[in-house]
Amino acid sequence: QPAKTMLEVNGIEVIYNHVILVLKGVSLTVPEGGIVAILGGNGAGKTTTLRAISNLLKGERGEVTKGSIEYRGERIENLTPSDLVRRGVVQVMEGRHCFAHLTIEENLYTGAYTRTSKAEIAANLEKVYSYFPRLKERRKSQAAYTSGGEQQMCAIGRALMSAPALVLLDEPSMGLAPQLVEEVFNIVRELNAKEGTTFLLAEQNTNMALKYANYGYIMESGRVVMDGSAAELASNEDVKEFYLGVG
Ligand code: ATP
Repeated sequence: QPAKTMLEVNGIEVIYNHVILVLKGVSLTVPEGGIVAILGGNGAGKTTTLRAISNLLKGERGEVTKGSIEYRGERIENLTPSDLVRRGVVQVMEGRHCFAHLTIEENLYTGAYTRTSKAEIAANLEKVYSYFPRLKERRKSQAAYTSGGEQQMCAIGRALMSAPALVLLDEPSMGLAPQLVEEVFNIVRELNAKEGTTFLLAEQNTNMALKYANYGYIMESGRVVMDGSAAELASNEDVKEFYLGVG
């Protein structure tokens, strides 16, 4: 049977600083258990879309002025980011935001801020280490002294400490060597398969994203210009020409 809809973004408009219209009516659907990619070049509106969903626009002086966002059938536009984390929606920001002066393990603990049971938190930490053995090895290291790949893993691991149902993952490949990008995406796939975690990810690396996602939306200047299954998009001539660099 078809998977249930988990997230439904319907015609959202986003304006920054009261005047700059950046999203011009974006709609997308994420099914329960899916890996969905938002693709497109620099400035297309991918990050803004994720921030609209996780209600992180305020700090950027942005607001959703039209449309609706539903998570598991309920409107969520007025929930705070921490309400959303409690309900299972967590965002991993672009650029691997780890606290540089904290150790990897301390960083991971900060991801459990909405939880109270010490036993559950400890079990979750062990689970994160089972997916990211490298983080376990580096758990006592200050984040500032770990590699870019380890910091990206730390940022994802921290998000997983809230036991999320839906992870919004912004540009996981950014600044990573191809082999590490593959490693990170493999873990996403494994979490999806074994834990049932749903992912909505923003990526400029179309090639890689289409290898791992089930479905994709291509954005240009604040609009979705094309969407389809990963296989459809990967074999589409326009996508090949403009996004996969295979003329
Ligand atoms: P990138 O991969 O560079 O993050 P993106 O597709 O995620 O690109 P956004 O970051 O969502 O794109 O940016 C979309 C547009 O909104 C860009 O034109 C950008 O300049 C503009 N923008 C982003 N943040 C702000 C802000 N805080 N204030 C004003 N304009 C902004």
